[in-house]
Amino acid sequence: EIRTRFAPSPTGYMHIGNLRTALYEYLIAKSQGGKFILRIEDTDQERFVEGATDIIYNTLKMTGLHHDEGPDVGGEYGPYVQSERMGMYMNYALELIEKGEAYYCFCTKERLDGLKESNGEGAAFAKYDRHCYHLSKEDVLGKLDSGVPYVIRQKMPEEGTTTFHDLVYGEITVENKELDDQILMKADGFPTYNFANVVDDHLMEITHVVRGSEYLSSTPKYNLLYRAFGWEAPVYVHLPAVMRDAHHKLSKRHGDKSFEDLVREGYLVEAIVNYIALLGWSPSDNSEIFTLKELEGKFDIAGLSKSPSIFDIKKLTWMNGEYMKAMDFEKFYGLAEPKLKEALGETQLDLKKIATLLQKRLETLNDIPALVAFFKELPEYGTELYTHKKMKTDDAIALSSLQAAMPVLEALTQWDETAIHDSMMALVGELGIKNGQLLWPIRTALSGEPTSPGGAFELAYILGKEETLRRMEKGIA
Ligand code: GLU
Repeated sequence: EIRTRFAPSPTGYMHIGNLRTALYEYLIAKSQGGKFILRIEDTDQERFVEGATDIIYNTLKMTGLHHDEGPDVGGEYGPYVQSERMGMYMNYALELIEKGEAYYCFCTKERLDGLKESNGEGAAFAKYDRHCYHLSKEDVLGKLDSGVPYVIRQKMPEEGTTTFHDLVYGEITVENKELDDQILMKADGFPTYNFANVVDDHLMEITHVVRGSEYLSSTPKYNLLYRAFGWEAPVYVHLPAVMRDAHHKLSKRHGDKSFEDLVREGYLVEAIVNYIALLGWSPSDNSEIFTLKELEGKFDIAGLSKSPSIFDIKKLTWMNGEYMKAMDFEKFYGLAEPKLKEALGETQLDLKKIATLLQKRLETLNDIPALVAFFKELPEYGTELYTHKKMKTDDAIALSSLQAAMPVLEALTQWDETAIHDSMMALVGELGIKNGQLLWPIRTALSGEPTSPGGAFELAYILGKEETLRRMEKGIA
């Protein structure tokens, strides 16, 4: 059975790249009847943010990426929060020492800093020189007995190469002598991320490790750990970065939007998920619009690409519009209604009718307030709006059309779209003018905008007789 895991660190927001990782992990598992597991990697205390795990749970819930195991739903491989697993790692580190695959290191910070310097030019990183590996057994025991602080390091092979296969990047080989004897257990008795991650993935029986390509260079070390323990290594699927442009990764710190930002800006969760699915994967049939359920059926690892993809907000916005157009009206109305009420306040206006007009022309839900503001209050507008080449109208024509229309509308005893339509079309015939020469001025006078959701009949109906006549009067004045 395939088991994948999403292992986010609770940072306080859901980065688009992280959500994509979660989606692919979910899809790799679900497309093959496997399990998707959530593990919270909260051991980096500096990054701890209050409420951050709730954001992770909420995102998975909203997007429908339901996990089969995790801190909140349980499972047989718990605990699923890394900080609750802290007691488990030391024994594994000791096992490696026993096997000669790891060793105690007592080097002081000063000595390590010295190594860095000897590497020249203030190197940020220096390969550990393996000083403590050569300590005698007695020496080590003596230091341990007298309480000298220590870390435990992984002993890398001196010679040869390490090769692993990544399903996206192919075969990757590194020279073992390039690998640093990385720390597995820190002086405070806690594991490093690199160690905990491997032990957790093994204990949770993760079959496919799916994560960002920034982990690619650490993977040989992870593989050597699996080998040192005699464990079977997982299948690796590293994902290329999601980019803002050709040169920069998406980064929240540099102002790129998180998942929550997009939702707040009126994007539909389904559209976001659909769009994100395409950031590094394409289906064999080149289709673009699919639900999560459909994705589960379509997804295949072979469709993953190793070239970075650019997050294109325009494409997402387009896709969002497609989702809104295709949406069942009642569902759309459920989403639009709160925005309409927010924009229009207490109102007698037929909100459903307004929503019908909006559904086909919206890109995001947050476009609603600006599009409907004129219903509440007629904006100031200049008479140049009456001039429209294609409609063959100008100021003078508009004035005479509005004047002719007012008494006809005033005389209507029934105020519905059909009655308004029929009376105005009859007037067009009577005056011997073009439709647009009557309807464009009315639409303009009723909205005060160069474009509006809905034309003359619809706007007149929605505004009601009294307000329609009031606005037309104003249009003449
Ligand atoms: N906690 C790591 C992160 O958020 C996960 C890395 C992994 O999936 O192995 O980047």
